[in-house]
Amino acid sequence: MADPLLLVHGGAGDIPEASRAAHAAGCQEAAEAGGAVLAEGGSSVAAVCAAVEVLESNPLYNAGTGCALTLAGRISLDAAIMEGHTGQAAGLAALDAFPHPIRLAERMLAESEVLMVGQPASQWAERMGFRRVPENELTTEAALKQWHRVVEEGASPNFAGGTVGAVARDAEGRLAAGTSTGGTMGKKPGRVGDSPIIGCGTYADNQCAVSATGEGEAFLRSVFGARVADAVRYGEVPAEALQRMLERVRDFFGGIGGAILITPESGPEAFWTTVGMSHGWWTPQGSDCAI
Ligand code: ASP
Repeated sequence: MADPLLLVHGGAGDIPEASRAAHAAGCQEAAEAGGAVLAEGGSSVAAVCAAVEVLESNPLYNAGTGCALTLAGRISLDAAIMEGHTGQAAGLAALDAFPHPIRLAERMLAESEVLMVGQPASQWAERMGFRRVPENELTTEAALKQWHRVVEEGASPNFAGGTVGAVARDAEGRLAAGTSTGGTMGKKPGRVGDSPIIGCGTYADNQCAVSATGEGEAFLRSVFGARVADAVRYGEVPAEALQRMLERVRDFFGGIGGAILITPESGPEAFWTTVGMSHGWWTPQGSDCAI
């Protein structure tokens, strides 16, 4: 059986030169946190959550602390997780300010529902013991500045915040994928991207685990994650399937972005059609990062 493996991304886009090193290092730190779970024999789901939680805590990324804001300047978070060997999945969308939406998704794996949205989803999370915090606890100066640029000055809603995600293979070869985001800066209230939608921004089965980042509407319309996984299942080389689908998202569906992928035997695979995508990985031999 192949070694355990954990791969994370910190969003695709054009990350400013000054923060590139920190963006990549944050991914490596998250990969190591997930890797520590795998090293102790933890499950792929537990490892994905541990890695994503570190990224959600890091204000550099567009998830949890430092997330993007809606047109109305409010917080609306999306997250999902999927366990490959059982096909269990959980997505939450348009959530209130929870510091770690990935933990809500992990808890929701035990429920029969696959997608919960808005106020009822936030209320369910509170009933499960998760703490909703005042929005200013998750709102950083940098996010507010970017909101002003996009909403008041008309700058392009650069999604390079960026969304975070992880894919993992545990010691038993079981796969999982998770993604967490504040969505696009200045999005319409109620808008939901690809990240919490199973088969689009997040997908895992027993052959492939994938987490995407980028222009969510294009990833939704292309049903990105499920199509990549099917291509791998039916024999396409994983790296080629990833590249081909990301080029199709760009060329046919009109959106750029990136994704990470692993299979029971291969990985880490990462590809992007943006200028870059911060990512980091862990194996029992060590960890590294790139952008
Ligand atoms: N895909 C995310 C969304 O559209 C944004 C991102 O990846 O940065 O909500």
